[in-house]
Amino acid sequence: PVNRLAKVQEARLRLPILAEEQQVMETINENPIVIVAGATGSGKTTQLPQFLYEAGYAQHKMIGVTEPRRVAAIAMSKRVAHEMNLSEREVSYLIRFEGNVSPATRIKFMTDGVLMKEIESDFLLNKYSVIILDEAHERSIYTDILVGLLSRIVPLRHKRGSPLKLIVMSATLRVSDFTENTRLFKQPPPLINVECRQYPVTIHFQKRTPEDYVAEAYRKALKIHNQLPEGGILIFVTGQQEVNLLVRKLRRCFPYRPQQEQQQNEQQEQLEDVAEENFDMKRVIRNIRKSKKKFLAQMELPKINLDDYKLPGDDTEADMHEQAEEDHSDDDALSAGEELEGVSELSSGPKQPLWVLPLYSLLSSEKQNRIFQPVPEDCRLCVVSTNVAETSLTIPHIKYVVDSGRQKTRLYDKLTGVSAFVVTYTSKASAEQRAGRAGRISAGHCYRLYSSAVYEHQFMEFGLPDIQQKPVDDLMLQMRSMGIDRVVHFPFPTPPDQLQLQAAEQRLTVLGALKATPGDAKDLPPAMTPLGRVISRFPVAPRFGKMLALSHQQGLLPYTVCLVAALSVQEVLQETGVQRTEDVAPKANKFHEKRQRWAASGNFQLLGDPMVLLRAVGAAEYAGSRGQLPEFCATNGLRHKAISEVRKLRVQLTNEINLNVSGAQLSVDPQLKPPSDAQARFLRQILLAGMGDRVARKVPLSEITDKEERRRLKYAYNTPDMVDPAFLHASSVLKQKTPEWIIYQEAYELRNGDSEKMFLRGITAIE
Ligand code: ADP
Ligand code: MG
Repeated sequence: PVNRLAKVQEARLRLPILAEEQQVMETINENPIVIVAGATGSGKTTQLPQFLYEAGYAQHKMIGVTEPRRVAAIAMSKRVAHEMNLSEREVSYLIRFEGNVSPATRIKFMTDGVLMKEIESDFLLNKYSVIILDEAHERSIYTDILVGLLSRIVPLRHKRGSPLKLIVMSATLRVSDFTENTRLFKQPPPLINVECRQYPVTIHFQKRTPEDYVAEAYRKALKIHNQLPEGGILIFVTGQQEVNLLVRKLRRCFPYRPQQEQQQNEQQEQLEDVAEENFDMKRVIRNIRKSKKKFLAQMELPKINLDDYKLPGDDTEADMHEQAEEDHSDDDALSAGEELEGVSELSSGPKQPLWVLPLYSLLSSEKQNRIFQPVPEDCRLCVVSTNVAETSLTIPHIKYVVDSGRQKTRLYDKLTGVSAFVVTYTSKASAEQRAGRAGRISAGHCYRLYSSAVYEHQFMEFGLPDIQQKPVDDLMLQMRSMGIDRVVHFPFPTPPDQLQLQAAEQRLTVLGALKATPGDAKDLPPAMTPLGRVISRFPVAPRFGKMLALSHQQGLLPYTVCLVAALSVQEVLQETGVQRTEDVAPKANKFHEKRQRWAASGNFQLLGDPMVLLRAVGAAEYAGSRGQLPEFCATNGLRHKAISEVRKLRVQLTNEINLNVSGAQLSVDPQLKPPSDAQARFLRQILLAGMGDRVARKVPLSEITDKEERRRLKYAYNTPDMVDPAFLHASSVLKQKTPEWIIYQEAYELRNGDSEKMFLRGITAIE
């Protein structure tokens, strides 16, 4: 029996899914596989695990719930624990770097990638009585694969006499890829549609579609706050930087507290962040297997000096400058447009404070949680979010939605794997979801920052499933190591492109993870090699796995672990005030010189940009061991949260190596010395082994007679896969040297209006 607090029970009873508990549970009891669709906020994620628990599904085995987003796995496990009045040892979560799972865990929330890994070691998922695949409409790669795998595991478990239930949950009724795919499910599984009361939402299109949707969103929020009755505002933009920019501007316009108090408060929050990261660290360490006591002894926690503190990032000079400029241009726009009337009038009068909160996936979970906490009295709630708030998290009390109609996507070229970050229009389906967020408590309004013509003609009906858009190297290797040889025949809900599968197979063959079968057996897929098996054990991209697999030689492991960890985490190095995708003149980045110096000592020529990462992580570790991490990150342009993720990954990889490589006794050394020249040379060989397909050669300028053309191609390189040359990115410490041959970590395209330009990042010179 579950002992819920009266207040919790009251809130639950208002959720649409509660009215259907009996029908839902009857269907689940009678069918091995069930699909549950229901609008966002109807209570699927928080309530269904509870129904199952109360029906006894957690008595002998666990209830497993997967989420495509880490944010959701953490937030939902905490919420369900709270609602059920159970501890976090019983309702727990597990994501790539952390978790609170214990032997007492009954309900386990995890990312879909985590469950995928578990299938590798226990194909039948014997620990579980039910698996819920949540947010299946998002069509993340792992969720898609899990549906395919579970469609086979469920009948197998049935045959063994220990049945497993599968529940696929979706926020939309568009589930035909699952229900009508007979390769997936011979019998279409029953579909339960949770009826959900949705109040009408009035849609307002813009007459024209402004380029600067962030400025437009700001104006719209001011207008709503100044002129419209109470009710929360939810703003959708595309990325973290846009979110932070808007939050700062809105806070400044409608401050909640006197400036000083607010600053103190922010400082307090920063300190709490530090404490939180420390706490996670402890948990990671606790989870390390006992046999490695020696290793543990060396893992002294960094101590934070609470008196020695400075706000990182936020108020750097460059940012202030950018801020001032933005504000100014906005004011201009305001005084020119018709929108001004209401705004200027009211902004001079007494302002009701606005309680502005950011929301994006890289935000600490504590801060994310503030969206669920009560809003201070007399304040209006305003949440500025990326598409995290579209379906994963339901923010309470929203009446107004401001929809930029855009999202940031990373597009990949199917053949070359070259990627580009682009801001695109969302789909019509996403636009409906976003608008729907305004109609949960009463009739609401959605302000779309684009015209109805743009919506009609330029929005796709639905987004494409990830598996049809992203490289599948990782996935292919994982599937192969599970013994799925003919990936082409796998029951995908929607199969990836043939081309994409072939390209992945080819890259894995070049890497040595797969080996083509000899002539006469042409139709057999290339076989998995022993090296491939080793690579697939590491929780990083295959090319990094290979680097690790080779590094037991010459005492390189600590360096490779450090390097691979740093290369696997996004945006370790901050590029102030500009998106990483932009080609900024080095001077625009005030950290550039410092980085140049980091790379310049001794063996700089040998490793180039990766050396900067290596030194940055090493130095951060050292600063951390002396309690100066936040300050160090701030003054050296490192992202604090990224550094702590790098550290977690280092711990994880170190641990993995100690368990798998016989005789390895690795530790995470806070005083790791820079590699010797000889070691740097070996490291370069290892880099080359992982990046064999990412070699480029300088365009031979001496063969070009046209002067103009010679200047244009000064930093240009030819790569094997691409027709047009690519250019060294300005952030590279090797930009001045322009070596003849290089290895690069990443090639990506930047679109500027109609023109496109290809850039190379993470450069190492080969001599
Ligand atoms: P669905 O999965 O169908 O989208 P959820 O189960 O996520 O719905 O949410 C049900 C309700 O629980 C929503 O109204 C949401 O606002 C509320 N809720 C979720 N998490 C929290 C939390 N941490 N604090 C307060 N309310 C929450
Ligand atoms: Mg949900």
